[in-house]
Amino acid sequence: MERGKLERGQMEALQRLPAVDLVLKHLEKADGAPAVPRPLLVEGVREAIEALRRDILKASGEEASGVDLAPGAVARKALLLVEKGRARSLKKVINATGTVLHTNLGRSLLAEEALQALAEVAGNYSNLEYNLEEGERGERYDHVQKLLCRLTGAEKALVVNNNAAAVLLALSTLARGKEVVVSRGELVEIGGSFRIPAVMAQSGARLVEVGTTNKTRLEDYREALTAETALLMKVHTSNYRVLGFTEEVPLQDLVALGEERGLPVLEDLGSGVLEDLTPHGLCHEPTVRERIEAGASVVTFSGDKLLGGPQAGILVGRAEVIAAMGKNQLTRALRIDKLTLAALEATLLLYLDPEEALKRVPTLRMLTVPPGELEAGAQILARALQESLGKAARVEVIKEFSAVGGGALPLAKLPTFAVAAAFPGTSTSRLAEKLRSLEPPLLLRVQQDRLLLDPRTLVEGDRELIPGLIGEAMAEAKGV
Ligand SMILES: *Cc1c(COP(=O)(O)O)cnc(C)c1O
Repeated sequence: MERGKLERGQMEALQRLPAVDLVLKHLEKADGAPAVPRPLLVEGVREAIEALRRDILKASGEEASGVDLAPGAVARKALLLVEKGRARSLKKVINATGTVLHTNLGRSLLAEEALQALAEVAGNYSNLEYNLEEGERGERYDHVQKLLCRLTGAEKALVVNNNAAAVLLALSTLARGKEVVVSRGELVEIGGSFRIPAVMAQSGARLVEVGTTNKTRLEDYREALTAETALLMKVHTSNYRVLGFTEEVPLQDLVALGEERGLPVLEDLGSGVLEDLTPHGLCHEPTVRERIEAGASVVTFSGDKLLGGPQAGILVGRAEVIAAMGKNQLTRALRIDKLTLAALEATLLLYLDPEEALKRVPTLRMLTVPPGELEAGAQILARALQESLGKAARVEVIKEFSAVGGGALPLAKLPTFAVAAAFPGTSTSRLAEKLRSLEPPLLLRVQQDRLLLDPRTLVEGDRELIPGLIGEAMAEAKGV
């Protein structure tokens, strides 16, 4: 932001800015520089000088006079920029928000078994599309096909890149150029711009909306059927609920109507729970098996929501319907990659023993941690924080709620115990900002001028890092 008129201090500072060559000469004499390829170094120096120029233009005359523009100082800044440019951008963060399926933080964490499978398949050749028994070409989908059928009761399965892709593929295969009947109450938008009407348009199918936002009856579907109707679709309102004076048509009734008219029924289930979680205190989410048993021709769901695996879109259902999807050219474009497939197979294998799955799949474990364990974790963290921060902070353990997140179980509030830390005289929003810039970045909730840390979403080793990170952020927040 260039101002119309510069103050004297600013002008002098701009004149003092060193030339690129001068800083480079300084760097060539110093240690540490030779390890950096020269083009990167030149770029870093240019960027550093540019950044300083912007600082000067933004500063007051007095502040500008105080900026250190010696070649050594500029060189240090340049090296920091080079380092930042060479560091990975995608990296681990600590999630202390308590939101388990945090879409912006990568949704599900993979189980140890899935990580191992992924690493093995990534670093070696594999039988991805090779049938070892026959010694000939095989199908990548075979590695999860049987498992998915066993876990859901379906006849056949297919896996693509994500659930949005699964819905697109299903609609394109079953209803391209034809009509699809959907209830107005189910025209969902899921975070990241997945909208049923838009996906429908993309697939080449025509959306026929029936009923109203809060009430749709079987008659509404029946009256909408024409010679052009190819499909009845149900969408699980996975990230919201229509409450109060409502009515929706149970899947069974839609299936009966479909049978009467020879129409398939597709359900976009969204979250894809394989195991009923109600015995563990969560509200009911229809399991994939329930929907297959209710007669859906195809059910689609995500791999990285309540299933707790990698990002993937899973389609299960009747053999002839899934086989038709496999022949659609889109399948090739949307196909799942080998790393995802390895992680998905390993995750699904854990589900063969549901008790084990609850312990080993991180998403399931986090959703079902006993409150006593959360309280104990919060107490340990609170003590460590209080000890390391001393009088600078007031720390206590409070009762709170964690969210499931990821557009799943929208009404569920999971009781938890959180550590609440107040820092008299320090801005908590500024602290939270500093915490995001550290290694690893620490993400948490800010509530009523306190930092809130929920142990539910911490992974092994996180808790021990937190006091140091908060101490570092305190020092930085004060230093400015
Ligand atoms: C989450 C969700 C999607 C999108 O799934 P992705 O795997 O994120 O592509 C689609 N439909 C419903 C109902 C969902 O809940």
